[in-house]
Amino acid sequence: MSQLWSPFVKNLVPYVPGEQPKMTRLVKLNTNENPYGPSPKAVAAMQAELTDDLRLYPDPNGDKLKQSVADYYGVKTSQVFVGNGSDEVLAHAFHGLFQHGKPLLFPDITYSFYPVYCGLYGIEAKQIPLDEEFQINVDDFISASVSANGNSGIIFPNPNAPTGRLLPLAAIEKLLQNNTQSVVLVDEAYVDFGGESAIALVNKYPNLLVTQTLSKSRSLAGMRVGLAVGHEDLIEALERVKNSFNSYPLDRLALVGAAAAFDDRDYFNDTCNKVIASREQVNAGLTELGFDVLPSAANFVFARHGQKDAGELAAALREQGIIVRHFKTERIAQFLRITIGTDEQNQILLDALKEML
Ligand SMILES: *Cc1c(COP(=O)(O)O)cnc(C)c1O
Repeated sequence: MSQLWSPFVKNLVPYVPGEQPKMTRLVKLNTNENPYGPSPKAVAAMQAELTDDLRLYPDPNGDKLKQSVADYYGVKTSQVFVGNGSDEVLAHAFHGLFQHGKPLLFPDITYSFYPVYCGLYGIEAKQIPLDEEFQINVDDFISASVSANGNSGIIFPNPNAPTGRLLPLAAIEKLLQNNTQSVVLVDEAYVDFGGESAIALVNKYPNLLVTQTLSKSRSLAGMRVGLAVGHEDLIEALERVKNSFNSYPLDRLALVGAAAAFDDRDYFNDTCNKVIASREQVNAGLTELGFDVLPSAANFVFARHGQKDAGELAAALREQGIIVRHFKTERIAQFLRITIGTDEQNQILLDALKEML
């Protein structure tokens, strides 16, 4: 703390990302990275971009990448926004769409960046508890909105994080039918591992914004690329914020790599399917060891053991170089969030747990 800081900065509560340890030979299952590399075509595209042209600014609009995303989802390029990681896309949405002097609604257990952005952008947060089975109940959002006399917006990940639980599109549609006066943002960071994208609904609901990232299913966390799809008016709001903040958020390598990753559908489908198959194996293995595993549609599982303390398990795994995520938050303090790794990594994890239990 320094007296040179503004009062605003003194009061910020920043997000704490999952650890990126510097040790080697780790079984790193703590930040939901993809165990497989990015598409070889994406790597080749980035290598080809490593030329003297790096002296030139990138395309500020990211038109080629927007075209790849638009082709993939069958929408217009004017319905696509791209940014430096979906965290940045989310920030612009908070800034440009959620500041209306009413509370923003999101689940009590969810992506912990949402309350951080509420603090950064001066938005009141209203947390809606998940039900007993850790599911989002859209009726609770609808009634909370009535009692708060409206809302500035609604945001949740689907599948939710860190629970992995999926909300069916029909439930999202019900929410949209009952919430027409503010933006409903569905954060689909994990949707490719077993969900159906709400992008299918954007032409029907002009207040629906869907964000996605290339960090998880397209294995480009290191490149920082995220996107949003929605009605042109929502996209224009994001463009206005972006062009008031940083006109060139995506560098030349990220733009070509992300476009190539989107275009390489075979590699994408193969690696997603491998992760999904491994998830079911990890789920079965943990269940056999006495864990209660929430049904997951993501590239991680969320599990608790009736007899063993989650914090102790995480610490014991860590001593063996196996890193998983443990949140000390109230309702979920007895859960571990375990990213799906390669089959070899998953086996190392299960063997280590078997020893401990
Ligand atoms: C990983 C994640 C993000 C952020 O993705 P980046 O594109 O890497 O910034 C956003 N939302 C949720 C729910 C995530 O898990």
